[in-house]
Amino acid sequence: MPMEKVDIIGGGIAGLALAGTLDPGRFHVTVYEQRTELPAVGTTLAMWPEAQRALSGLGILGAVRNRGAIIKAGALRRPSGEAVLSMEGEGLLGVSRPELLKLLDTAVPGTVHRAIGRVDQLPVKAALTVGADGVNSIVRRDSWGKRSAAKPTPFLAVRGVVPGTPSTQDTGEYWGRGEIFGLAPAAGGSNWYASFRSDLGPDKVDVAEALEVTRKRYANHSPAVRDVLALANTETSLAQRIWTTPPLRTYSRGNVVLVGDAAHAMTPNLGRGACEALIDAVTLGKLLNEHPTDKALAAYNKKRVLRTQLLRLASSAMGGIALAQGAQPWRDALLNQVGRRVTRSRERAGTSK
Ligand SMILES: Cc1cc2nc3c(=O)[nH]c(=O)nc-3n(C[C@H](O)[C@H](O)[C@H](O)COP(=O)(O)OP(=O)(O)OC[C@H]3O[C@@H](n4cnc5c(N)ncnc54)[C@H](O)[C@@H]3O)c2cc1C
Repeated sequence: MPMEKVDIIGGGIAGLALAGTLDPGRFHVTVYEQRTELPAVGTTLAMWPEAQRALSGLGILGAVRNRGAIIKAGALRRPSGEAVLSMEGEGLLGVSRPELLKLLDTAVPGTVHRAIGRVDQLPVKAALTVGADGVNSIVRRDSWGKRSAAKPTPFLAVRGVVPGTPSTQDTGEYWGRGEIFGLAPAAGGSNWYASFRSDLGPDKVDVAEALEVTRKRYANHSPAVRDVLALANTETSLAQRIWTTPPLRTYSRGNVVLVGDAAHAMTPNLGRGACEALIDAVTLGKLLNEHPTDKALAAYNKKRVLRTQLLRLASSAMGGIALAQGAQPWRDALLNQVGRRVTRSRERAGTSK
């Protein structure tokens, strides 16, 4: 059988995972990536069990475990630090984005051609062009049109890693009025993130300015939050407006297909974007290895569109609840109810977490 040419635009999480899955005996793969080196700063991505299975399929789960940190427990907290709901970890694995990209890179066969530089015009006709180029995908714009362009949300995401392992008394997510703050262990430190409405951006956001705004905003939060923000610096922090993509009914058109954020960029509230990007890529890669392209694309849409679009909606809904401003008293009353029920059922089951 002649080799089929596959062009993957974007060598991020989804692009590398796909390149690492496609059968090098059947596909002649080129990955186009604008980045010349790994990002210097990268905060922790939480890998859910299904994403861990995708990493296992790529043969790098062990290495990711070695470089990452298991997230065992967390809590939903008030700004004061008081826990409203405590949760035990369900086997979440935290790994920094640069580490993940480095390890995904090792799963890409040497036969894959790398083209470094920004793609402004899609390369001419491969048997299959894959948009793995993230939220502002030019592949999506080219095939789905201007109406598919990503839109900025009103929310800023500021995040980073600071030295020192956080106490389990402090880990979890703090929900204030129109603001959240998260704290979790990371390999070699503590991973933190904050999100709230802001006029900064929507394109490039100055990290120093974002940190200053964040420190002011969280000045009345618990000492654990303030201590982390006092340690945060511009070298180990990132700030960006959160962008999302509009809904799509299908992720393929002709010989073009989308994976990851190019298909379904969602707010980070469920911590699923990178996980779903990995699962898209491994699912698509396996289907292409086993079936003719048209059948593989049809099966990929069937397996992935509904699920990821629902997650996109759920993530926004979760963001709406967590970042509620006007409806905050209702939200907190509801949380109290849930917290009381969980405590009672734990007491009945003989556990007191
Ligand atoms: C604040 C925040 C926190 C998050 N936390 C989590 C989490 O805990 N867990 C989780 O699962 N997800 C999380 N996510 C989501 C996750 O970061 C994304 O879903 C994930 O990065 C998507 O991967 P991707 O490969 O599809 O896109 P990207 O990571 O955006 O990769 C796209 C790649 O394409 C390249 N590219 C783009 N355009 C071009 C071009 N024209 N030419 C050449 N190359 C190009 C880029 O350089 C990049 O390398 C979070 C997101 C945010 C904003």
